[in-house]
Amino acid sequence: MVGCKQIFLSHQHLYLNLPRTSMDLKPLIREIPDFPIPGINFKDITTLLRDPQGLTSAIDQLAEKIQAANINPEYIVGIESRGFIFGATLAYKLGLGFVLVRKPKKLPAPVYAIEYALEYGSDRLEIHQDALPLGSRAIIIDDLLATGGTAAATGELIQKTGAILAGFGFIIELIDLPGRKRLPDVPIISLVQY
Ligand code: AMP
Repeated sequence: MVGCKQIFLSHQHLYLNLPRTSMDLKPLIREIPDFPIPGINFKDITTLLRDPQGLTSAIDQLAEKIQAANINPEYIVGIESRGFIFGATLAYKLGLGFVLVRKPKKLPAPVYAIEYALEYGSDRLEIHQDALPLGSRAIIIDDLLATGGTAAATGELIQKTGAILAGFGFIIELIDLPGRKRLPDVPIISLVQY
């Protein structure tokens, strides 16, 4: 048992000494061609999440960029479901509250809802009406910015609550798509670009 503890402590020591805010995250993101449909090059963040240093570095890098951009959020808003993983972890790091934006019929209390267009059909997102205090500053976190439809709709939801949309944070941004242009004029942070 003593041996185990020593191994754990030396591993932790090694890990704490890594330059976590400069780590290149791209090698930890797996690309799956033609998923879920032909033509989509899916960016799989499960391989980043399972890497202890990669996950810590991703959260540290988000925190550093949020600070550098003077976003000063009071709440982190995560988009279901991968935005929950990064958003809640970031909220813990920054000592902030976490608010959920969910798919329809998941939230139990009264909600504001927004319908938004997808390439084929439409989708709907919801937030609790009382999730954010009036005038509070909120940043939206998701794993990936593609066309910007999901993030733009979430921004509108935040405005319905009377809170201030202070910025957006993404792990990945697909820069050949016009996602950034669809979003309001607030700071938009991303860590890895394709
Ligand atoms: P969009 O509304 O087009 O910006 O799409 C953003 C949402 O779709 C995010 O929540 C992503 O998780 C997901 N998404 C879109 N494109 C991809 C992709 N190429 N790889 C992984 N996830 C994607």
